[in-house]
Amino acid sequence: MNTQADLRCRCGEVVGVVTNASPRTVNRVVCYCDDCQAFAHQLGRADLLDIKGGSDIVQVAPASLTIAKGQDRIAGVRLSPKGLFRWHTTCCNTPVGNTLGPAIPFVGIVTHAFDSDAQRADQLFGTAVPILGKYAIGEPPAGSTGLNLPFILRAIGKVLGWRLRGRAWPHPFFRPNTREPIYPVTVLSPERREALRQKCGPSPAV
Ligand SMILES: [Zn+2]
Ligand SMILES: [Zn+2]
Repeated sequence: MNTQADLRCRCGEVVGVVTNASPRTVNRVVCYCDDCQAFAHQLGRADLLDIKGGSDIVQVAPASLTIAKGQDRIAGVRLSPKGLFRWHTTCCNTPVGNTLGPAIPFVGIVTHAFDSDAQRADQLFGTAVPILGKYAIGEPPAGSTGLNLPFILRAIGKVLGWRLRGRAWPHPFFRPNTREPIYPVTVLSPERREALRQKCGPSPAV
């Protein structure tokens, strides 16, 4: 079965498609880490975080995601010079994919972009595993603070499998020839990163 999931930014300028969408082909997490929280605050999109500061993210193979419309409205942020590339739209600051460089092929997409009248993320991708709960605001979700070895092994297995099966390319955010980012990237200053940290768990100062 080849299930297609439609991705849409909040305002509709940017539209994408994920092929092979099913609980079997992806990793779905709610990530409580302070980097994901900082990114949401950087975008002014704290509305995407759950009550404990979690980001609901589905990880897919790079070749599974195609940006179909609005390519001129995509940019990237790195919280530090070696941080993840966190891609988002510039029209309405919707996250559309967290990535490392193309050598470690995965794209983590905030699942809100998949919820619409026509489809629900829960039906497409199944349930999420809570991770990095030590940064959660308030009581960490059950099972989110320890080392979840089965989950880690599954996530590594997925990425290795995507690499071995040629699902790293085409990559939605990197050029195949130079391996450079397709879209403009901003690296936050240490001062800005620190200011964002004040808003993040486990104990937000503001
Ligand atoms: Zn938009
Ligand atoms: Zn995170």
